[in-house]
Amino acid sequence: MNIFITGGAGFIGSHLAEYHLNRGDNVVIVDDLSTGNEQNVTPFLKDSRYRFEKGDILTWEGMEQEIAVADRIYHMAAVVGMFRVLQQPVEVTRVNVQGTERLLEYIARAKNHPMLVLASSSSVYGHVHTSELREGIELVFPIENNALLGYALSKLTNEIQATAYGQAHGMSIAIPRLFNAVGPRQSGNYGFVLPRFIKQAISGIPLTVFGDGSQTRSFCDVRDTVVALDLLAGNPAGWGQPVNVGNSHEISILDLAKLVIKRAGSSSSIEFVPFEKGYGKHFGQILQRQPVLEKLQHLTSFQHAWTLERTIDDLLKRERSQVDSGASVA
Ligand code: UDP
Repeated sequence: MNIFITGGAGFIGSHLAEYHLNRGDNVVIVDDLSTGNEQNVTPFLKDSRYRFEKGDILTWEGMEQEIAVADRIYHMAAVVGMFRVLQQPVEVTRVNVQGTERLLEYIARAKNHPMLVLASSSSVYGHVHTSELREGIELVFPIENNALLGYALSKLTNEIQATAYGQAHGMSIAIPRLFNAVGPRQSGNYGFVLPRFIKQAISGIPLTVFGDGSQTRSFCDVRDTVVALDLLAGNPAGWGQPVNVGNSHEISILDLAKLVIKRAGSSSSIEFVPFEKGYGKHFGQILQRQPVLEKLQHLTSFQHAWTLERTIDDLLKRERSQVDSGASVA
């Protein structure tokens, strides 16, 4: 199979590339390296079935050509990470909405009808206050003007773009709503919590818990996420509609900090940092995130292979060996 991945040097994109290379597929990625990191994909360069293209999805001229030979496209290019989203609100809508529109337009014109996996996000659930985050529930968004809202609405717009193109052009599009993926190569530079906690615990400095730490998230190892995406892409019954992809094991951020400290055997303490200090004013924190995975389970045979404890142990091991080799980055 010919796989084309936008944003392929990013965290999830690079795991998709690795997964498909391991399965014997040809993989081409395009990435402008704004969030993605070249180091994420350099190990693949020795594989003759792999090619890297540096390009911005808004302007890259090779797009049409790559789409014309692709069997499956994963659209992962987006502005992500809370720090980046807050700092670059214009980029969020430009890249996430215009970039997706450009890609969809080219796919609609392509004669080979490649299948598309378009990454949505749990952020589309906005400020819904329920633990039952099912795909069909009504969505609630705060009125205040914050960049998080811009990100959530850009992803919701992506879903609507996908549905519209699917209907108008008969395109095959899977729309996974991704819940907090974690794992190797995720950078803490853009705000993601687990790589930050891992680094802090190993350095023996305080773990920075934003707010009182009672907010919850449900973390899914990225190596599970990519399997779920592949399975979803393989079942036409799941196309044209959003499907939650994640892990339903929910944990508070304070408990996550304690778990990392415990598994690291670290002497780090926990420092509570007001949300305002972490993210600036007018920040509406999401208090609970737990996916209902019934739809995914109904559509696919997906099962998680990774527990949160195992992911943390794996990340601690990797971070320690990077520190030992002097190569620790973000
Ligand atoms: N968080 C934290 N300390 C950090 C970074 C993040 O307590 O150093 C919190 C953050 O406020 C949020 C949770 O961890 O409640 C998950 O943050 P992340 O950015 O990883 O994911 P998202 O908020 O987009 O679900």
